[in-house]
Amino acid sequence: QSLLGRIDTLDGQLNSFITVTAESALAAADAADRARARGDVGPLSGLPLALKDIFCTRDVKTSCGSKMLDNFVSPYDATVVEKLKAAGTVSLGKTNMDEFAMGSSNENSFYGPVKNPWDLSAVPGGSSGGSAAAVAAGLVPAALGTDTGGSIRQPAAFCGITGLKPTYGRVSRYGIVAYASSLDQAGPMARSAEDCALLLSAIAGHDLRDSTSVARGVPDYQSELGTSLSGLKIGLPKEYFGEGLDPAVDIAVREAVKVYESLGASVREVSLPHTHHAIPAYYVIAPAEASSNLSRYDGVRFGHRCATPADLIDLYERSRAEGFGEEVKRRIMIGTHTLSEGFFDAYYKKAQQVRRLIRQDFLDVFEDVDVLMGPASPTPAFDLGAKKDPVSMYLQDIYTIAINLAGIPGISVPVGFSTSRPTEGRPIGLQILGPHFAEPQLLNVAHQFQ
Ligand code: GLN
Repeated sequence: QSLLGRIDTLDGQLNSFITVTAESALAAADAADRARARGDVGPLSGLPLALKDIFCTRDVKTSCGSKMLDNFVSPYDATVVEKLKAAGTVSLGKTNMDEFAMGSSNENSFYGPVKNPWDLSAVPGGSSGGSAAAVAAGLVPAALGTDTGGSIRQPAAFCGITGLKPTYGRVSRYGIVAYASSLDQAGPMARSAEDCALLLSAIAGHDLRDSTSVARGVPDYQSELGTSLSGLKIGLPKEYFGEGLDPAVDIAVREAVKVYESLGASVREVSLPHTHHAIPAYYVIAPAEASSNLSRYDGVRFGHRCATPADLIDLYERSRAEGFGEEVKRRIMIGTHTLSEGFFDAYYKKAQQVRRLIRQDFLDVFEDVDVLMGPASPTPAFDLGAKKDPVSMYLQDIYTIAINLAGIPGISVPVGFSTSRPTEGRPIGLQILGPHFAEPQLLNVAHQFQ
């Protein structure tokens, strides 16, 4: 009730929720109380949280930030939603996001932009901007996001919270509206690594309904928290500290690395030589997969349908023209082009080959170091409306998208604030990366930042 009150008072300004489910939340809270009275309590019983509006929820609208799905109510729950319900959590609602998770600022939402709680003139990051802002503003203690190219880590960094993108395949994608299926992963966003660990333990695991989920036991992600970092080998990729990095971010990240040295870790410079190919490769592969995934929105089975179609083609064309926003249309056109006959080898196939090299960079470097550290984003949160052309927005993703191309896990941890104008007082995130399935170690390292 107290959090619903906070949402009521504050979210008119922040716009972090698309749907608030007050009634069902109070009922779920009552059920959790009754279960507790019976002695039936788990670590997440009664925990209030929020879900990015990309997770299918039975009986509650799942818009994916779009006009296309503004009228869509899923007949089933996503696997992670099912798991969180079974763990006794209480969902307060669905959070705002860039349309179909395409964006880095939450300005592409059909429901309007989200404001950064630290500075209302700044963006919260994207695409999980609503989840990040809701946690940062204390509207919920934790939320779920998804990350295809940085959408958990970058908004976490911009809003001063902790966000983890798990290893590809660690968390089921069943019931999550697909953006780029070979890159999408769901993960926790919360105030601390410990809270992220709790949530990850609840949502991770194999799922027969997602053929890309990995059949591998789920560790207790809290059990390694606090393990000594003495002897930890940290690599700083030199490509992550180059041109375009805001000095305020550079300073905060290097100071954070010193904290780990004081805890007994050793630091060395390493190289990920194919880093500069990550943005071009991602912006071929992600739109290609998106154009294919979004072909299902045809105005026939579900989603927006235009009024009085003349015939089937008119129905398809007008439903899609009206239902999709500008950025989504741009990606559909790019993806359709790069997958078309005559261009496939030059773009899509080439991008997949580059992806392999990027992945190999990480595998090679993890032969020598345990974790990598660097910035989550080249700048602190920028002003709403500041990035008008799409390419300047895509460049925001420079430090996050290679991680999805490689399938490895990454966590963003708040390590300070910008001390210089015009971003003074806005949070800065340290990104920590590890090999596939190194989530226990990443969470432990993140946990010990102080
Ligand atoms: N900003 C990237 C994009 O627009 C990543 C988004 C995401 O991770 N969903 O594609």
